[in-house]
Amino acid sequence: MARKEMPTGLYTSVSQVKCWLRCPRQFELRYVRGVAPEFLPVNLAFGTAVHEALAAHYCEIKASGTPLRRDLMLDVFRFAWERARDGKVPLQGDEDEEVDVHALTDKGVTMLHSFAEHAAKAPPFEVVAVEHPFTVPLHDPDTGEILEEALVGFIDLIIVEKGQRMVVEHKTAARKYGADQLDHDLQMTGYKIAARSAGMGEVGLRFQILVKTKVPTVQVADIERTAQDEDDFLRTAGGVLKAIDGGVSYPIRGWQCRGCPYHHACGRVAR
Ligand code: SF4
Repeated sequence: MARKEMPTGLYTSVSQVKCWLRCPRQFELRYVRGVAPEFLPVNLAFGTAVHEALAAHYCEIKASGTPLRRDLMLDVFRFAWERARDGKVPLQGDEDEEVDVHALTDKGVTMLHSFAEHAAKAPPFEVVAVEHPFTVPLHDPDTGEILEEALVGFIDLIIVEKGQRMVVEHKTAARKYGADQLDHDLQMTGYKIAARSAGMGEVGLRFQILVKTKVPTVQVADIERTAQDEDDFLRTAGGVLKAIDGGVSYPIRGWQCRGCPYHHACGRVAR
């Protein structure tokens, strides 16, 4: 799959906003100073490989009307996972835990079998786009001021199901998403704003989560975002951008340090 290109000019993404909120020091090291990560978090690499397999599945439906053969979808996963394992940056789990790449290969294959069985029972739908790029202006909801930075990103999947256009976000997770994650995830709010701005009207929002339990399952959750959620998203993004412009940076030490690829540089930031 082609490498995703970012547009030129000033922009931010939901991932950048979430990174700053998680730890402004990590944001500074990664996006401002361009520090090379010491490792690639294994869950991130694994999730990316699963994403590629799902994208291939839906690209084939878009092109031919039928899903990609299951063995080919598994090959896409294996190839992407192998590429991550053989990459220049080593994989690492939280707290230096040993990465069992073979067990994870088996886990990915089992998860994708479970996904294929789930997908075979899905109601009819049309694939509109896979990995759909967007660039939308951001504004301050209180003053109407248009911000310099645009919001950019990629929507995993857009389908039409029962006449309703749906934005679908794929995730891999250790356990099912709870109500708080479903209700407050910023990414979906950003996608809703992006879809409307791109002329798609009022879209439905769906998480399709491949859960890495012993017997993998697929959690499908259709969620809502209100006008208040959208305004809150714009306030959060605008606030983070103001803080970044002002050079605000400080460490937030906690659970996020365990899997932080910038830990090696964190204590050595010259102020
Ligand atoms: S080690 Fe912790 S405090 Fe330092 S950058 Fe990483 S997440 Fe932030």
